[in-house]
Amino acid sequence: MPKDLHIKKLSEWEEYHERPFVIAGPCSAESEKQVVETAIGLKKTGKVDMFRAGIWKPRTRPNSFEGVGAKGLSWLKKAKQETGLPLTIEVANANHVYEALKYGVDVLWIGARTSANPFAVQEIANAMQGADIGVLIKNPVNPDLELWIGAIERIYQAGIKKIGLIHRGFSTYEKSSYRNLPQWQIPIEMKSRLPEIPMLNDPSHIGGKAELILDLSQKAMDLNFDGLMIESHVNPKEALSDAQQQITPEELGKLLDQLVLRSPRPTDEKQLNVLEELRGKIDWLDKQFLDLIEQRMQVAEAIGEYKKRNNISILQNKRWEDIIYKSIEEGAKRGLSREFINRAFKAIHQESINHQMEIMNGKKKPEA
Ligand code: PEP
Ligand code: MN
Repeated sequence: MPKDLHIKKLSEWEEYHERPFVIAGPCSAESEKQVVETAIGLKKTGKVDMFRAGIWKPRTRPNSFEGVGAKGLSWLKKAKQETGLPLTIEVANANHVYEALKYGVDVLWIGARTSANPFAVQEIANAMQGADIGVLIKNPVNPDLELWIGAIERIYQAGIKKIGLIHRGFSTYEKSSYRNLPQWQIPIEMKSRLPEIPMLNDPSHIGGKAELILDLSQKAMDLNFDGLMIESHVNPKEALSDAQQQITPEELGKLLDQLVLRSPRPTDEKQLNVLEELRGKIDWLDKQFLDLIEQRMQVAEAIGEYKKRNNISILQNKRWEDIIYKSIEEGAKRGLSREFINRAFKAIHQESINHQMEIMNGKKKPEA
């Protein structure tokens, strides 16, 4: 990441009012009536900051509805005139960028399939060189943080200062209740790498179903996301794309009313003291935990030494399976998930093997 990256905070964007920053609108623009009516409905909620609609739709399979194309841009312009809501559309190539700029679209977004493709992102970046617009970059379909950062860098190098991110989940082959797995650790890691970059969540494409949107939006608020991009259609059942995940503007208004907003930081001295005390306990426990792991490694090394002297192989599958099985049982009694124990113990086991290997190869002497 360039060290002198001066990306504007969301609070410095002229479109921003208050947290959460909400972008809403249909998956696709379908007709002038649908676009304008949806925008008016969204404006009425009083909670939407920007209007979205897909003009060109990247579809997984051919022969699905691929968007109305450039003619939809005049419908969006009309929606903006009627409601005052700034506009955002998806761009996937240089021509889309030129068309969008011609119509005065305020913010462009790069879709998940496009941000996975450096050639496409570079072409888009070149086309918007120096333009005074905002750009939102959805995470690539594959969970690759570096690729996502690469897309930010390409857009930044084109002179764009208003850059934000949209977490829309990651493709999965496995069956899941989500359309795209949230893998929250990835946007969290991104926020620790680039704390100032605006981060929105797209619960519509993560959930894939209208009924999952509220919980996902709340989770995003709990994790301190700056805003949400939610698909909304005046008549979701008739939508030409993503029908199951769209909600009406009224439903969206009610959903936003239900969100509990949490303060990103403690707000007074008392809260700070309570948290400090609890954090002190966590720090102490973490230290105990590290001391125990250190002791565990010393025992593993002693085993390594014994195996070396007696010519026994390091990996004893049966023993390992017993450890995992017992730990999962014990973990469950303590309210720890199976998945967590599995991952944590695999990592500990791998570290023990590494220590034993060093002993076997004579690189390290065991502790006396
Ligand atoms: C969309 O926002 O309608 C869209 C196509 O999203 P994504 O790129 O996240 O799949
Ligand atoms: Mn969609």
